[in-house]
Amino acid sequence: MALIVQKFGGSSVADAESIKRVAKRIVDTRRAGNDVVVAVSAMGDTTDELLELARDVAPNPAPRELDMLLSSGERISMALLAMTIHSMGLEARSFTGSQAGMITTADHGSARIVDVTPVRLREALDDGAIVIVAGFQGFNRDTRDITTLGRGGSDTTAVALAAALNADVCEIYSDVDGIFTCDPRVVPLAKKLDTIGAEEMLELAANGAKVLYIRAVEYARRHSVLIHARSTFTSNEGTYVLGEGMADPRLAEGEDMTDVIGKEEPVVAGVAIDRSQAKITVVGVPDVPGSASAIFSRVSKTGANIDMIVQNVQSASPGRTDISFTLPKEQAPDVAKQLQAEQSELGFENLVHDDQVGKLSVVGAGMRSHSGVSLTLFEALSRDAINIEMISTSEIRISVLLRETDLDKAARTVHTAYHLDGDVEATVYAGTGR
Ligand code: ASP
Ligand code: MG
Repeated sequence: MALIVQKFGGSSVADAESIKRVAKRIVDTRRAGNDVVVAVSAMGDTTDELLELARDVAPNPAPRELDMLLSSGERISMALLAMTIHSMGLEARSFTGSQAGMITTADHGSARIVDVTPVRLREALDDGAIVIVAGFQGFNRDTRDITTLGRGGSDTTAVALAAALNADVCEIYSDVDGIFTCDPRVVPLAKKLDTIGAEEMLELAANGAKVLYIRAVEYARRHSVLIHARSTFTSNEGTYVLGEGMADPRLAEGEDMTDVIGKEEPVVAGVAIDRSQAKITVVGVPDVPGSASAIFSRVSKTGANIDMIVQNVQSASPGRTDISFTLPKEQAPDVAKQLQAEQSELGFENLVHDDQVGKLSVVGAGMRSHSGVSLTLFEALSRDAINIEMISTSEIRISVLLRETDLDKAARTVHTAYHLDGDVEATVYAGTGR
């Protein structure tokens, strides 16, 4: 008998009809002889609606009360799901995050899970019940208050439950079929991956792929949880996210990948695109020691998350240089204002804030042992006359910053250049991956 954790996102439980479909899947899994623990998100856009409501009554709602409010979204779906399962003749019990033993830090709105004590869940499983847990929430022992884990936090709830209960697999259901080599709405020939390394998944997620949340993948990697990202709407297998040393669950013992596909794993696993970044260029910075430090100490005061940084060798004026960096679009105005306010102290000539940029990243663990991987990228972009504005790399990733208007075309070109194209167009639902 296996223990399976299943997570259903908001789009999978958007209305009564969807809740019944999800309940049926849970019941089928249970009837197949498995223990089942479910983590569920709030119905549809409930969380957004609650946030809006809060802002309608108070411009700056207290974080404690906001968490009280938002955590109620998941309570609605968990109770409805349990009732639906009862009406199908099986025993199910729902639990809030705190009842489930999700112990978190005290940071309202972005709490981290520090411990999971699933005593009540074990009891319920021992009684033969299906366990339903409200996603996205927990409890802090010191403040004794309810916390939430940040947007999309139900993925992390599911993975943490899987780790604490030593589950065989953590199935994350959404409205897309799995992890694709690129967003199929942008690259129609994108292919669903059967497996992906956790490390690659983290890079893809950090660089714009939206199917799985970074923190959930990180948690899974740290605790060796096998994630299976799949669709609520089909029974097809999705994508397994494999941590280090984890065997591909589709293989029999002793078999390896070459037996199955008869060739080496590709060097590049996927292409991610990110439209959420803006670029700020500080023009004509004095080219002396301490300039970058002065600028970025101002930037860091705003709490902005800097991604790429480039310093030009030479600016138009002698003895000066230009420094460009990227950061989330919504943080850029604040940072620009902060720097502009100190223009005379910092001694730069001019500041350019540009939010018409897009980032394309190519990710693959195989890059470690292959050379020439970046050349393929640069050649492909050059063939299509697409200009590169910034470049950054990690051990398993190459990212380029482009004009936003070039991004989609670039993704298709690069996808083809790395031989990632499938033979048929991917079925695209209006899915969001949530
Ligand atoms: N309901 C929360 C949100 O919309 C958590 C989740 O869906 O995972 O962000
Ligand atoms: Mg949601």
